[in-house]
Amino acid sequence: MLQALHKLLTSSTNEPETDGAVTLGEILRRDWFELWYQPKIDLKSKRLVGAEALVRARKPDGGLIGPGAFLPGAKEADMLALTERVILTALRDFEDCAAHGAVVKLSVNVPASALVKLPIARMLREERPRAVNWPGLILEVTEDEVMDDLEVANEIAEELRTVRCSLALDDFGAGYSSLARLRQLPFSELKIDRSYVTDCNLDRVNAGLCETIVELAKRFELKVVAEGIETTSESQTLLEIGCDVGQGFLFARPMAKGQFVAAISRRLVAPAKGPLKARRQDRQEDHQEKDREIRQDIRENTPKETRQVAAALPRRVTAG
Ligand code: C2E
Ligand code: MG
Ligand code: MG
Repeated sequence: MLQALHKLLTSSTNEPETDGAVTLGEILRRDWFELWYQPKIDLKSKRLVGAEALVRARKPDGGLIGPGAFLPGAKEADMLALTERVILTALRDFEDCAAHGAVVKLSVNVPASALVKLPIARMLREERPRAVNWPGLILEVTEDEVMDDLEVANEIAEELRTVRCSLALDDFGAGYSSLARLRQLPFSELKIDRSYVTDCNLDRVNAGLCETIVELAKRFELKVVAEGIETTSESQTLLEIGCDVGQGFLFARPMAKGQFVAAISRRLVAPAKGPLKARRQDRQEDHQEKDREIRQDIRENTPKETRQVAAALPRRVTAG
């Protein structure tokens, strides 16, 4: 049964074509646009912690075209129109997921030019879900596109923060960011490029690079996500070197919105603890930590007899 479910999530029947001779402009005009989702998974608990939105084009004959066929070389105006559509669709899709009981933090891919040329903060202020538990949106920008003007980049990121929107550096390692520059960029998440993740359990160079990137991310207080995990051994290696979150065919392929919502509602991918439950657990952990400190204090500073009495006292009962 479990194997059948896993097969459903990771099956390759939903792979799009990559050689459709159609432009992004035509796709938008003909309304062939679809937004698919690939789960982001906590590598330890294997729970869903978010999902990345990925564009697809659906032809009238039912055929599916992947972004590799129409994004390279697309006109800037079409890329901006696509970005607007992607953001608005993701905001609506969040509400659909929430209606099915899962609060999922979504990420969308945006070209760096859209950060400057589109009023994204205003769009979010006007169109964002009103639910109090809306976790915000992540905008992924590829490393090779990152803006040169740090001052502008920081201003944009600051404004986006006011509408619960943060920036992720996509395909990290594929470009040539200097370490000094990385520290100055206003990103809160770093996604390790798939080329380093592949065979990181076998290839010592890739393993070393992943480890260095994870350390770097932690030092700069960035969340780190490994892209393109295809095997259990890669996932295990990444977990051992301290990478918390991953994405890849091992867990789930990108899937159409309907399939994603169905998977969430059937708990094929289990959402992480909701904010309320998480807060409760945090409080419980705080209490447990305090209790440990008190017990340590008692052990160190009280005579043996008193310790025996203290040990016999009931432990604090914490709310679950
Ligand atoms: P990306 O943002 O780095 O997205 C991850 C890509 O890796 C996706 O390809 C995904 O299907 C693929 N992938 C995920 N896990 C695995 C795995 O385990 N193995 C392999 N072989 N591949 C995996 P996809 O959907 O074809 O997208 C390619 C690129 O197109 C994206 O790379 C992103 O740069 C761009 N893109 C996709 N959707 C959008 C969009 O809505 N707007 C913009 N501006 N760019 C987009
Ligand atoms: Mg991406
Ligand atoms: Mg990527």
